[in-house]
Amino acid sequence: MKLTINNVSKRYGNGVQALKDVSLEISTGMFGLLGPNGAGKSTLMRTIATLQEADSGSIVLDGIDVLKEKDKIRRILGYLPQEFGVYPESSAEELLSHLAILKGISRTKDRKQTVTTLLKQTNLYQYRKKKLGSYSGGMLQRFGIAQALLGSPELIIVDEPTAGLDPEERKRFHNLLSEIGESVIVILSTHIVDDVSQLCGNMAIIHEGRVLLTGEPIKTMAGLQGKIWRKVIDKQELSQYKDTFNVISTNLFAGKLLLHVHSETRPDNSFEEVEPTLEDVYFTTIKAAKKQELEEKEAA
Ligand code: ADP
Repeated sequence: MKLTINNVSKRYGNGVQALKDVSLEISTGMFGLLGPNGAGKSTLMRTIATLQEADSGSIVLDGIDVLKEKDKIRRILGYLPQEFGVYPESSAEELLSHLAILKGISRTKDRKQTVTTLLKQTNLYQYRKKKLGSYSGGMLQRFGIAQALLGSPELIIVDEPTAGLDPEERKRFHNLLSEIGESVIVILSTHIVDDVSQLCGNMAIIHEGRVLLTGEPIKTMAGLQGKIWRKVIDKQELSQYKDTFNVISTNLFAGKLLLHVHSETRPDNSFEEVEPTLEDVYFTTIKAAKKQELEEKEAA
């Protein structure tokens, strides 16, 4: 399967240009769309999910024109939106069964079987009679995946699914996603770098509506080999280091600051070389884009 996005742009009525000439090629497997809040991820996800229009560009899934043949796409689409509402008084079994009818699974026997299979797959079967209003955040997200899987979709879109989950819930959710991501296209939109490094064979980094980088996480990390350096400093030294070096990230470490610096050569002998992580790729890419934007603004 292949989803081809070509030069998609979108400007909202308030003047915000949410997508700028976005082009991506996405194949079977898990694809991570990584970017900070406001980058345009949800706009792109909603556009692929046929819920809003693009101003220009095209999106094609295996010969189907996503922007025009909406009904065709909806039949093979599973979507977990960023804000996923449920009826709190309804049980998981009741609501999933209701949604299955809307998805066209009309034979009672088929529907019962589908609902049972999905509740088992998402580890919710033992809680199927409980009210959704009593579910934890992680359980609700798993329910969200169960409804997205109704009708055996070939394209699954999950928008910021792990935000707000505790580490254990996140892990369960990751395991669930990685199971379903083998034979279909799953697009995972997130601002959490670890979601992508743990799950996705391919990814894109998006910032201010523009795709900055695409590729396999492993290869993008290899591209930074020998260029990421770390040092532990006191907090009050930070501004001085920022003035002198290309600091891409700072993390608290035992009350001190652990700096990562991007540099073609060792900044000085007090720095230690580290294996690049996807977080280094992400911060290096975003930082370079911000610098370029600033230079363009100053030149204008
Ligand atoms: P993300 O999902 O990466 O956080 P969004 O696609 O939600 O990004 O938003 C991209 C930009 O478009 C942001 O600046 C956001 O404020 C703006 N935006 C999103 N939805 C709307 C809307 N319905 N009307 C106007 N502006 C919007």
